[in-house]
Order: sequence, then structure tokens, then C-alpha cells
Amino acid sequence: MGNLALGDGRVYVQSMTNVDTKDVEATVLQIERLATVGCEIVRVAAYDLEAANALKRIKERISIPLVADIHYDAKIAIRAIEAGVDKIRINPGNIPSKALKEVVAAAKEHGVAIRVGANSGSLKREFLEHYREKHVALAESVLEHVRALERLGFEDIVVSAKSSDVTETVEANRYVRNKVDYPLHVGLTEAGYGSQAIVKSAIAIGTLLMEGIGETIRVSLSADPVEEVRVAKWILGSLHLRKVPDLVACPTCARAEIDVMKLAEKVIALLDKFDKPIKVAVMGCVVNGIGEGADADIGVAGTKSGAVLMNKGRIVAQVPQDEIFQVLRREIENWEDWRA
Ligand code: SF4
Repeated sequence: MGNLALGDGRVYVQSMTNVDTKDVEATVLQIERLATVGCEIVRVAAYDLEAANALKRIKERISIPLVADIHYDAKIAIRAIEAGVDKIRINPGNIPSKALKEVVAAAKEHGVAIRVGANSGSLKREFLEHYREKHVALAESVLEHVRALERLGFEDIVVSAKSSDVTETVEANRYVRNKVDYPLHVGLTEAGYGSQAIVKSAIAIGTLLMEGIGETIRVSLSADPVEEVRVAKWILGSLHLRKVPDLVACPTCARAEIDVMKLAEKVIALLDKFDKPIKVAVMGCVVNGIGEGADADIGVAGTKSGAVLMNKGRIVAQVPQDEIFQVLRREIENWEDWRA
């Protein structure tokens, strides 16, 4: 898809713009911000013909693959394909069969992939009545869309089965993966808000990725989409699927000699902009901090007068209280990954 090969073993990070697609400037600006933090595929809503028309100008100005999100109208889908998008996301169930044929023909002609999927909130009643378990109804609904495309001789397909419920999403994706081999786009839909949505998304996406299920991911948040990309990268980093910086910080207790929370907050903000797989430890005291931070490339552990600076658990310097962050920042910025 575009310059990416889904299924090449890499899990790609996807997000979606939330500005008006007709506002080309705002959309391009948001896509650039997303790409800067690590978004590799971006979806935009093409909700009418005018929005679809804007896609050509957007596509010309961005460097990551563009996906057009279309709900009902085949004309919009064809316009988006002609605009040069890399993938369209449609629901074949909402498009009459003659019009679907035309969409598929256009996608074939232009080499555009089609993502089909279903969300548990919009399942047809017959699926819910026919299949006792909701995750099966969700998965079978997705598979019906897949078969509709296959009957038209189209196989450049990406599949998604989403729910706001973690177990339902996991089970539905397992079911789909057992039935078809197309790349899967995984994530929750309407996940919730803030930490709650992050936890749910991390569990669902993490569980699936650990089973080798998922070629692209989206962490769907009610927030600036840049946040979605950050969280997605932390998920991939946690599973060692992507080299990203890591922070080890103790929860603090009565032994803490430094303000771990404040320092950890500053360090995570710094690491967020750092594109190397460094592991940094921020520990409250030397009693447990040295041993527990021994895995980190660089770390500090609080002392009565400030902190000790550590390198793989070895103490390499004493740092006064008011210089801890500056010293840590200098060490992080100068750090070279000798394993690279
Ligand atoms: S590292 Fe020290 S301050 Fe932090 S939790 Fe452990 S004992 Fe407490």
C-alpha cells in the first residue's frame, strides 16, 4: 500500500485526522505533525464529493500513505481513488452491488487497496440473531465484506474488526485471522477517554500483537491524534516490536530522596523526542534504586545530597540536587547506541 508492504513483518502505526478534510492546509499540517511523531499511515474522512476532491491536493503534499474513509457513497469512493489515495475504507454492505463493482474496478485500475471492516456498534440485526456470540457476529460480518470483494476478483484487502470491548475485539480478530490471511488493522473503536482508553487499547492491541495478529494498529483516542501515535509507539516498544526509548521509574516510598514524579515527567517528555532505544532509570534512592535500575543504559538514584549517576548499574558520578535533570539530559543526548 503506497510505499509500504503490509505483511512484511513490521507493524505500522496508523492514525486519523480530526480537522475538516476540505481544509487542505489544516489537514496537511496535521498529517505532517503526525508523521513527525511516527505515524506511518494516515486516514482522513471523505464525507462528501468536495472532501474527496481535496484528497488530491493533500496527497501531493504528504509523504505517508493516505487512506480515505468513505461510508455509503460509491461516487465518493471512486473520486477518492482517482485522487490518488493509497487505500479506501468502505463498508460494502452499504453500497449497492452494481456500484460496488464500479468501486472495485476503479481500485483495481489504480492499484488502490480496500479496507473492509465492521464495528460491533453497527452490526446488522441478522448477524446478531444468527450468531449467539457477539464476537462471532462481528467477525462473520467482516468476512461477508471480504467475500463480497473476493467474488469481484479483488484481493488487495485489509480487514478490521473493532469493538469498544477488549475481549470482543481480541476474540473477533482471532476468529478472522483463522479464516483469512489478509493484513489486519487492529485496535478498539470508541475506546473511551484518557488513561482508561489507553489501558483498554494497550491490552487489546498488545494481546493480539503478542499472538502475531495485526499488521497495522490504531490507538483510537478522544484526543489530539498525535497522542494516538505516541501511545501506539509505546505499545510497539513495550513488545520489542519497535526500538523506542524506555523509562524505568520507581513508584517511590518513604525512602525516596528526590522528587521522582517531577523528574520522570521531564525525562519522559525528553525521551518522547529522542529516536534511540535508550533505557533510562529514575529511582528514588540508592537502597533499591541501583539494583533495580541496573538494566538501564543511564539512570539516577536519589541520595541525601542529590543523586548518583548510573551506567548499567555502575555508579559513575555524584550529582548535586539542582543539577540532576541537566546531567541526565546531557547523558541522554550524548548517548550512542553501540548495538546499532
Ligand atoms: S527505589 Fe527506593 S524510593 Fe524508590 S520505591 Fe524503591 S526503595 Fe522506595
